[in-house]
Amino acid sequence: MIRSALLAIDVGGTTVKSAIVDESGRVLARHSVPTGRGEAAQAAVRDAATHLAARARHLGLSLVGAGVVSPGIIDREQGVVHYASNLDWADVSLRAVVGSVVDVPVAVGHDAQAAGEAEWSLGAARGSRDFIHFSVGTGIAASIVVAGTRISGSAGGAGELGHTPVHPGGEKCPCGQRGCLEVYASGGGVARRYFTLSGRTATAREVVQLLDRDPAARQVWDDAVAAWVTSLATCALVLEPELVVLGGGLAQAGEALLGPVRDGLARALTWRSPPALRVSTLGTDAATLGAALMAARVARVATASSPVDH
Ligand SMILES: [Zn+2]
Repeated sequence: MIRSALLAIDVGGTTVKSAIVDESGRVLARHSVPTGRGEAAQAAVRDAATHLAARARHLGLSLVGAGVVSPGIIDREQGVVHYASNLDWADVSLRAVVGSVVDVPVAVGHDAQAAGEAEWSLGAARGSRDFIHFSVGTGIAASIVVAGTRISGSAGGAGELGHTPVHPGGEKCPCGQRGCLEVYASGGGVARRYFTLSGRTATAREVVQLLDRDPAARQVWDDAVAAWVTSLATCALVLEPELVVLGGGLAQAGEALLGPVRDGLARALTWRSPPALRVSTLGTDAATLGAALMAARVARVATASSPVDH
């Protein structure tokens, strides 16, 4: 019997990660290619879909839906990325790009929202009705769930907590503002500030390994922790989430990040209990699995609305 499966694609700033996933969220095959920019990034998405469609045939699987997620300003209805600065994309129809390869319904969404949804259904936020999930990588974006409903905002743009100011008049952010959370507290921000301070190149992960012996690493990390504490204190007071989940590359630092942030938050909130703080359980798979969940939904809708044979 031919088993049905879903195609899931996560278009990141550096890598297009894709997978074939079954209905229970199990990954059956994976593929990764460098993203590139502009047209090349679209070609990378097409290549990922082509590769995994062939792989699905080889495994005797029938693809029934596809989900593709990216950063930027997304029109989910139309399946279009209106703008994504890291990818050099303006008005790119991801639905058309993937639909040119596989003849299945294609759902398009935002990577951070997809990651939050996956952690909610399958990971660290399972069963929670009030939580914030942060995707922490090159930048920071969040998915906010209040009373069991994800907040999307008046125009779908809620959750840009990476660009909330933590230092008025602080360092400049590529978004044009100053003092944004992600300038200090993202993986990209930590690496950039370490280079500025020390003249040496290191990834955020390497900065963590240098904490005990490199004052510049210690300074940059303490600044990142302080920025997280300021931001999470505000979140806790505005929304009173029961849980905050940190996902993405920087969250892999684990207790090196969570420990001092937890302590700082307990000190900052003098009269309110801080939310529980957890690292994502799906790790860097979260957005891909979120894309698979979207694919499953669009496949179900297509099945329900297709004409019945008599
Ligand atoms: Zn910003």
